[in-house]
Amino acid sequence: MGGDELNYIHEAFDTNWIAPLGPHVNNFEKEMAAYVGTQHAAALSSGTAAIHLALILSNVKAGDEVICQSLTFSASANPIAYQQATPVFIDSEEETWNMDPALLETAIKDRLSSGKKPKAVIVVHLYGQPAKMEEITSICRQYEIPLIEDAAEALGSSYKNKRAGSFGRFGILSFNGNKIITTSGGGMLVSDNEELISKARFLATQARDDAPHYQHSHIGYNYRMSNVLAGIGLGQLKVLEQRIKQKRNIFNFYSSTLSHIAGISFQPELAETKSNRWLTALTIDPAFCKINRETLRLAFEKENIEARPLWKPMHLQPVFKSAPAYVNGTSEKLFQNGLCLPSDTNMTADDRSRIRTVLNTLF
Ligand SMILES: *Cc1c(COP(=O)(O)O)cnc(C)c1O
Repeated sequence: MGGDELNYIHEAFDTNWIAPLGPHVNNFEKEMAAYVGTQHAAALSSGTAAIHLALILSNVKAGDEVICQSLTFSASANPIAYQQATPVFIDSEEETWNMDPALLETAIKDRLSSGKKPKAVIVVHLYGQPAKMEEITSICRQYEIPLIEDAAEALGSSYKNKRAGSFGRFGILSFNGNKIITTSGGGMLVSDNEELISKARFLATQARDDAPHYQHSHIGYNYRMSNVLAGIGLGQLKVLEQRIKQKRNIFNFYSSTLSHIAGISFQPELAETKSNRWLTALTIDPAFCKINRETLRLAFEKENIEARPLWKPMHLQPVFKSAPAYVNGTSEKLFQNGLCLPSDTNMTADDRSRIRTVLNTLF
């Protein structure tokens, strides 16, 4: 927390706005839309809820297909299953670790030739690094498929000076406890389309028709962010730029400590993009290094320091084993050789020196 969050919470209590609506929600939406660079935003209970509503508003129904980046957290893909639609997974390229535009086009052509037009494309900016948005937006435009940008990990990142979340028909953000800023739990759907965002608010508040009695013409959801949590979000927005600086500083700490070691590479930052470096992630190529990813992870674990492998690709997950996938081996190799390093902005100088000791001993 930055310090100002409690003032906003007190204000919510003092004015008795302890409800899933209220002035903090409106202001958090306005400030976040302005920050990301979209016209509109709907504050929700989670990033997952935002993806779910984006799919509903893209008219995704049972039996439809939705294209999704394979190397990601399961929350990117689960809402496709909520709609009883089928995810079609796309592998990554090596320059950003995100959706490979060439494979995306191959997949779209292939699905079209089998008579099925994908209803949406979900691209992810993994660990804060923007995907190749110029290529991906142009393919989606060419084939007229709406783009949903999962920017849950990439708040504050940019591609050619345009912020992550502002490229697609929808952008989704997460304020879960592990993200760069947090409301303890929460998310947001952002878009330039006012009608879609007002429909999202309607669906997120139980789809109540405009009538004095309770009247429903649609299935609704209880997906709205509460006014108390939006207050935390307003306080957190004030420290976002500072958090990004801290995260990038943590990345510099690791890269200056390890970059000279043969076989070690960090997640690349594409030219003209800026990652918020939410998590610092590296790969160890066993062909060039005596130590592999597991040796490093276990050396950390022995010192009670948590490090985790990269996301396991969705096309390798038991739950999605029957889903179609277009693969090139990149995400599988990243999963085998990759490790996310401790990246908390709360890390003390002492924590860093414990980490450095493990690294110096190993390498
Ligand atoms: C965290 C995360 C989500 C889900 O956000 P929640 O707010 O936790 O529901 C979705 N996609 C990615 C890539 C994430 O990291």
